[in-house]
Amino acid sequence: MTDRRAEIAANLAKVEERIAAACAAAGRKREEVTLIVVTKTYPASDVRILSGLGVRHVAENRDQDAAPKAVECADLPLSWHFVGQLQTNKVRSVVGYADLVQSVDRSKLVEALSKEAVRAGREVGCLLQVALDAGASGRGERGGVAPGGIEELADLVAGSPGLRLDGLMTVAPLTGEYAGRQRAAFGRLMDLSTGLRRAHPAANMVSAGMSADLEEAVAAGATHVRVGTAVLGVRPRLG
Ligand SMILES: *Cc1c(COP(=O)(O)O)cnc(C)c1O
Repeated sequence: MTDRRAEIAANLAKVEERIAAACAAAGRKREEVTLIVVTKTYPASDVRILSGLGVRHVAENRDQDAAPKAVECADLPLSWHFVGQLQTNKVRSVVGYADLVQSVDRSKLVEALSKEAVRAGREVGCLLQVALDAGASGRGERGGVAPGGIEELADLVAGSPGLRLDGLMTVAPLTGEYAGRQRAAFGRLMDLSTGLRRAHPAANMVSAGMSADLEEAVAAGATHVRVGTAVLGVRPRLG
């Protein structure tokens, strides 16, 4: 075992323990929560190690980094999630490797994703990114649709060829009424998910929680946690 493999294996085991403990504390089954490892800024060799250690879901937030990594790792049994703010001019590339886009937050993006998914003959899973700190503009500082915009955007995704509406995603806000209140923020996301599932019962994914707050997300009911730093280490640069 290389040093890097041993390091990642140890980190992964710690994260697994945290998820298991959080599930136990919440009276949830461990299988109800899926770990997605956020591999942004880390090389394809780390993705390969993760795959060898049993990880099945990885996430990236920049197409420039993700696209070549996905090509290098095309032989691995991985689902790729795109979790970053997405410009429409990158959509063709992203649809080439992403099984899910978790950062769907506006109709123009839905239209572009649908067009490219159809063109590529693929079905792309979509999570609506919810901005719990959305201001009057109706958009979050780091992307995301305001809660009031979920219903309309969900209907648009559900009616778009090539796309599948899978659920909701959020990043705990740094500003606004939920700043520093992860548990409350994730609880609000769960309520929004309940509302969404009335019209779209299959859209039951709830993606919330990162290295620092995965316990709060599991306690609230998240089905997917997105963990980078706790598995791969502190990132060498902003990403
Ligand atoms: C980077 C990132 C994560 C992982 O964050 P960590 O704190 O490193 O676990 C999760 N979600 C999104 C959207 C990210 O960009």
